[in-house]
Amino acid sequence: MTPERRPDGDLDRSPGRDQDRRVDLHAHTTASDGSLRPTKLVAMAGERGLAALAVTDHDTTAALDEAAAAAAQHGIELVSGIELNVEHPGRFHLLGYLFDPNEDRLSHRLTYLQEYRASRNDRMIEKMQAGGLPITLADVIAEAGGGLIGRPHMALALMRKGIVKSTQEAFDRFLADGGPYHVPKEKVTPEEGIRLIRQAGGVPVVAHPTTLRLAPDALEAELRKLKDIGLGGIECYYSQHTPEQQQEFVDIARRLDLVATGGSDFHGASKPHVYLGGVVDGRGVPYAVLEALRAARE
Ligand code: AMP
Ligand code: ZN
Ligand code: FE
Ligand code: FE
Repeated sequence: MTPERRPDGDLDRSPGRDQDRRVDLHAHTTASDGSLRPTKLVAMAGERGLAALAVTDHDTTAALDEAAAAAAQHGIELVSGIELNVEHPGRFHLLGYLFDPNEDRLSHRLTYLQEYRASRNDRMIEKMQAGGLPITLADVIAEAGGGLIGRPHMALALMRKGIVKSTQEAFDRFLADGGPYHVPKEKVTPEEGIRLIRQAGGVPVVAHPTTLRLAPDALEAELRKLKDIGLGGIECYYSQHTPEQQQEFVDIARRLDLVATGGSDFHGASKPHVYLGGVVDGRGVPYAVLEALRAARE
């Protein structure tokens, strides 16, 4: 069947509309801060009966090759994805879908972001050592799953050393934005992020809009500006949205003619309350959402 395209954000719940094919468009692997290797994540998507999965690691596409190979084995469609950190007074994450991970400008920029992160980790550890905290890069690496390293791993290392009792205490005392040992990451601007994903043939989507920390009117105004420069969708269906938030974002997507997308933001052990496919009615987003994203490619 041809799924009806409804980029206005309405989920078509009428019978016979292929409701049984579900997708999860937001999940992390060990290439960033998820706890499952790409192969394991895809196997779990198979167990959950998902028809398609987007792997959306933070600032890296390193998991996509392994995930694609596993997806072929399980008969699942693998959607190339990413979640970029974007400059913003709030927390702005930009998802990208259906792009070519080998496109030059995108892959060069991602390489730079990863190198910058590594040097930033070094600087944060130097600052902690200078401040008298006995923590080394090796301690931090030991807490990571072999992928990207960041503050959560520093927090775990500090806890393992008995310097703090919880990872939250590590953030509150040392690692939070503006904290004594924090060094900012390099991020893309909204314009650059949108351009990078579009240039690589993909569709940019604002993730979990609540974290932009904008009132509804300001949020809609901001999304309208982003749409003018190439934004394709809004993540409306999300494991941590209330029904009211979901409706607010679906309404904005409809008014701005943006695709209403969704995903769980599965991370595994570090977010144990979030499960793969855990969005909409707990089974994932209808496949028609992926079709709408395809239609939104340029
Ligand atoms: P990084 O990418 O190294 O800057 O680490 C970002 C991650 O650190 C976020 O995804 C959160 O999991 C965690 N994080 C950042 N700020 C805080 C905070 N104030 N309290 C607890 N966790 C935080
Ligand atoms: Zn994450
Ligand atoms: Fe995010
Ligand atoms: Fe995420």
